[in-house]
Amino acid sequence: MNQTRENNKLSTEKSLNAMKKFAEKYAKNTKTYFCVDPSVTAVVIEGLAKHKDDLGAPLCPCRHYEDKEAEVKATYWNCPCVPMRERKECHCMLFLTPDNDFAGEQQEITQEDLESARATM
Ligand code: SF4
Repeated sequence: MNQTRENNKLSTEKSLNAMKKFAEKYAKNTKTYFCVDPSVTAVVIEGLAKHKDDLGAPLCPCRHYEDKEAEVKATYWNCPCVPMRERKECHCMLFLTPDNDFAGEQQEITQEDLESARATM
């Protein structure tokens, strides 16, 4: 029995793993870093994974949308969003450039950090 599935407030293990891998690879490719506070990174990755489950695409979890399906189709805020791709601007603080005061030294997140953030959601 998959506990994640039972609590539909949380993403599936499959999407969570996919978004964890995406975030780690994308940080390395763009030479950006995760936040010094791993719970920030964990909450954003969980939010992306939940949107991937519910909407079929990792719509940015840090914004309010009137119509999420329409936003997915518009693609602008599908992660990595246009501001990130064009200017390395991630307002979720998932991908931080080294000059950012909140940037840590990690481009990886542990399963433990992901799970402890999910336990609070
Ligand atoms: S701001 Fe952009 S890059 Fe950052 S999590 Fe949201 S969609 Fe992804």
